[in-house]
Amino acid sequence: MDANHLSLRLARVASYVPKGARMADIGSDHAYLPAHLALNHQIEYAVAGEVVKGPYENAAHEINQLGLTDVIQPRLADGLAAIHPADHVDTITIAGMGGTLIAKILDADQSKLSGVKRLVLQPNVGGERVREWLLTNRWQIMAEEVVEEDDHIYEIIMAEPSIVPFAYNDRELKFGPFLLEQDSPAFKKEWQAELARQETAIKQMQKAAQPPVEKIREFEKEMQMIKEVIK
Ligand code: SAM
Repeated sequence: MDANHLSLRLARVASYVPKGARMADIGSDHAYLPAHLALNHQIEYAVAGEVVKGPYENAAHEINQLGLTDVIQPRLADGLAAIHPADHVDTITIAGMGGTLIAKILDADQSKLSGVKRLVLQPNVGGERVREWLLTNRWQIMAEEVVEEDDHIYEIIMAEPSIVPFAYNDRELKFGPFLLEQDSPAFKKEWQAELARQETAIKQMQKAAQPPVEKIREFEKEMQMIKEVIK
């Protein structure tokens, strides 16, 4: 993969960035996502934020090599601290991290979200955490999809600030309101794998000298919910 040839996962994330966006890609690593969009004249401006020095240097190198220094600013910063008011960022992408970390990054510096019109989030795991954060903070999910690549299944969630009241029930938070409707083969595969993990976990717990009955019951309840959804 490089800025000219994105992975399917990042290409699908890129597809949700509006044309002409002023974006911030947080946790950008090599900056492939903003670089690809800039090379294809899809964005006006980008910040490529990275908290770790090595990936930040990779991003800076890539941006230089591709002659994109006028369009993309690499910044060594934790989360949304990479965004400065003068950037006038309207779109934020956060991809390739756990849902808990994505929610933590969004929560840590909410002042940076004023003026942002779209979030494109791709949790590797823990999509539920992301949806919980979105609901609590009045960001409405506008689109979702599941992408399968190299034996991994990834969720992509696109959200915009909501001006109308909305709510998600427990099922929608866990599985995704749009993903539930789509019921795609990749979605089924994702949850079949989760069922198998939970089955193994229950077997392990049952082997304990004093099996944690409450915990096992919780797992069984959750498994029942998954079975109902993917039946
Ligand atoms: N976004 C790219 C993608 O989807 O292919 C890179 C994903 S990489 C697995 C995750 C990156 O997020 C790492 O380079 C890591 O250093 C960075 N990261 C983790 N926590 C971060 C934070 N709080 N702020 C900025 N970057 C962060």
